[in-house]
Amino acid sequence: MVGVAGHPEAANLAYLGLYALQHRGQESAGIVSREGSATRVHRGMGLVADVFDEGALASLRGRHAIGHVRYSTSGESSLRDAQPFLAASSDSQIAVAHNGNLTNAQAIRTELESYGSIFQSSMDSEVFVHLLARARGRLEQRISDALSRVRGAYSLVFLVDDVLIAARDPHGFRPLSLGRLGNAWIVASETCAFDLIGAEYERDVEPGEVVLIRRGRARSIQPVPRVAEHFCVFEHIYFARPDSLVYGRNVYLVRKRMGRELAKAQPVEADMVVPVLDSGAASALGYAEAAGLPYETGLIRNHYVQRTFIEPEQSIRHFGVRVKHNPIRELVEGKRLVVVEDSIVRGTTLTKLVTVLRNAGAREIHVRVASPPTTGACYYGIDTPSKEELIAAAQSVDEIRDALGADSLSYLSLEALRRVEASMKHGFCDACFSGDYIIPIDQIEEAESQLGLFDPSGE
Ligand code: AMP
Repeated sequence: MVGVAGHPEAANLAYLGLYALQHRGQESAGIVSREGSATRVHRGMGLVADVFDEGALASLRGRHAIGHVRYSTSGESSLRDAQPFLAASSDSQIAVAHNGNLTNAQAIRTELESYGSIFQSSMDSEVFVHLLARARGRLEQRISDALSRVRGAYSLVFLVDDVLIAARDPHGFRPLSLGRLGNAWIVASETCAFDLIGAEYERDVEPGEVVLIRRGRARSIQPVPRVAEHFCVFEHIYFARPDSLVYGRNVYLVRKRMGRELAKAQPVEADMVVPVLDSGAASALGYAEAAGLPYETGLIRNHYVQRTFIEPEQSIRHFGVRVKHNPIRELVEGKRLVVVEDSIVRGTTLTKLVTVLRNAGAREIHVRVASPPTTGACYYGIDTPSKEELIAAAQSVDEIRDALGADSLSYLSLEALRRVEASMKHGFCDACFSGDYIIPIDQIEEAESQLGLFDPSGE
């Protein structure tokens, strides 16, 4: 998610920002721009580079733009769900891009539909534009009214006529950062987007904060009361790019620290440490340094295969794992390997990798995971499957080791993860590992049913 306010090449910068943020979603991409009183949009399915060509970018004129890349955590995967969403109220054009997952979108949508709102998509995120379109008063008031209705995780950028608005939910589940490029303001999910366009990171949008950027000036309001921080720890573990600062910390260094903790708690006699690329690389390096073992890329990653998980179909996922990693036989043959992975979800990736490494002649395979067992689904914007599909939800570590076919298996303990969290001096959400969900269980149930809620086939 990216926003640009007050730059003659706003759409181009938004495009580059989305390019840097491609890892956050590969299903669809879109940009909305604003020039005078004209709001323009271009959205499409697929990668940023496929969705936009020079003609499309040239048509997105204006000094303000917002953009989005999507992977679905709710709703379906189709063009009508591509963001940003657009709506017109009686006196303004509203566009929104949302990162996160709402927990009460179903109730709000039902209510809005009873008042005559017509939804265009299957997405929870669309409620924002309708709430804003219906709200009355000054823009600050309308934003406050809209945000006070929604629960759950949201980092948002709005373009309401020529005002750019960045907002983060009061828990701060998902990251959102503010930057400057000369006199222009840039908003992005991760700071790697600033690096690509030469913008300076200024600060994070605070939990519960709304920043309104109007005629080059930023004004901050706090419409919803601040509550305890619940920053998503999985951004550090897997989701964010290692070169980003997330919650003020460099992701690569946090991952290395997790790997060091893992090596201290779960040592093993071995010949080399092999990362599961890309997201396992930094923690594997931390493990290798702390264990005094060589780090070797014994599994080569095909970079032209997209992140497997983001494809919604299970059959494609299996295919993705098979085509993604190939071992270097000459390196691993006869060797005792520590294979370091950032997380195990269904166990698909590692089951395949242990097999391919055995077939390549590895003598021993010790799997080390730089996060605790994933035992619960995420309702705050990470695409985790339902509990039944999580291998660690029903099986013990020994059972998982056997299912993977590994010689040993250990995870980073929750205590060790929390030590790393505590060192960052923020409050974190680690519910997918700990089960400590901060929303009441009935709301979780609502969120669960919501995953299929807006599916038009069920309407
Ligand atoms: P699995 O194969 O189901 O055990 O998934 C684990 C693999 O998927 C690991 O390589 C992770 O880096 C990656 N992964 C974990 N969570 C996600 C997610 N929410 N989206 C995409 N990939 C993920």
